[in-house]
Amino acid sequence: MNQNNSTVKTEQDNSEVKTGQNNSRGQNNTKVEIDTFQRPVLSLRISITNRCNIKCFYCHHDGAIPQEYEMTPLEIERIAKIAKNLGIKKIRLSGGEPLVRKDIVNIVARISALGFKDVSLTTNGTLLEEYSQPLKDAGLNRVNVSFDTLNPETYRFITKSNYLERVKKGIKKAVEIGLYPVKVNMVVMRDLNHQEVWDMFQFCKENGTILQIIELLKTESCPDTDFFDEHHYDISIIEEKLMEKATNIKTRPFMQDRKKYFVDDGEIEVVRPMDNTKFCKNCTRLRITPDGKLKPCLLRNDNLVDLIEPIRQNYSDEELKKLFLEAIANREPYYSECGREDPKVLR
Ligand code: SAM
Ligand code: SF4
Repeated sequence: MNQNNSTVKTEQDNSEVKTGQNNSRGQNNTKVEIDTFQRPVLSLRISITNRCNIKCFYCHHDGAIPQEYEMTPLEIERIAKIAKNLGIKKIRLSGGEPLVRKDIVNIVARISALGFKDVSLTTNGTLLEEYSQPLKDAGLNRVNVSFDTLNPETYRFITKSNYLERVKKGIKKAVEIGLYPVKVNMVVMRDLNHQEVWDMFQFCKENGTILQIIELLKTESCPDTDFFDEHHYDISIIEEKLMEKATNIKTRPFMQDRKKYFVDDGEIEVVRPMDNTKFCKNCTRLRITPDGKLKPCLLRNDNLVDLIEPIRQNYSDEELKKLFLEAIANREPYYSECGREDPKVLR
């Protein structure tokens, strides 16, 4: 990362961000906030519900919240507006499962109307077949679909459901109607699906999608943490194979330094947060939990900043902006060269 006021280009939007100072301006003249570790804040991931229609055994649900307290479309729109004014360029909706919200199309339409460079959504794909077209019409650019296995038994084991064929149909539909790119998120787990990576890559190539392999994370929100010791798989083993096979490798500097491997006319991305100082050094993302708190770091829950209560108490935009800035000031790399006492335990 640049230390000396130099200018760097963001991968997707080509706008310029000056580092080495507290604030800088992108090409559209909106200030981009830079945290104290010289990382520009470019994207916001909003978890719009904690509810889900399946039960992935490894899932890290962020925050617990009854449905009636979920953020409303208007509140989400207000948050997105403030984010936009702080130079944030990309919004991703997540959850829980965002498509279980009946007002999801309305939420996407409100956010898209604000003119972000990129509006995307992460979904388990079970409801994607029916929602792809309405979401695209509402302005959604792209989707990531979590899909860990092609094997019905393994799918049932992981998700406690029988929706595998529905997810496949959802992925095909999203591609067909032109959401682009469609990415398949596969959490790689030892003795569950680690042998399936190449089959999944084949499936992705055949269906015009990009495979994103994700390292299993240990999470404090999950009651059973034995799964981590049992199923954690070091995906750098797969990365080594990818390095041998790839005809081209690209790095996404503003996306946690993720690597993209181009293999046999297909594309695989690798997401490896654990013990990864580069992931943290290049993290440009702020998050919002389903209970409306700004979350400065994927791997921490002890430095959240509440946003929804102030919104409900009619704080002004200026006051809400200050809360965003407080969360940005709280950002620090979880893994730095100094290391962690016990990097496997999330705070
Ligand atoms: N329900 C949506 C879905 O499954 O895509 C969005 C929410 S889900 C929490 C977002 C992503 O987090 C999914 O790709 C899921 O596979 C991933 N995820 C959940 N728990 C995880 C864990 N313990 N380790 C790694 N990834 C995890
Ligand atoms: Fe968690 Fe997403 Fe699985 Fe639902 S589909 S249990 S939110 S990972």
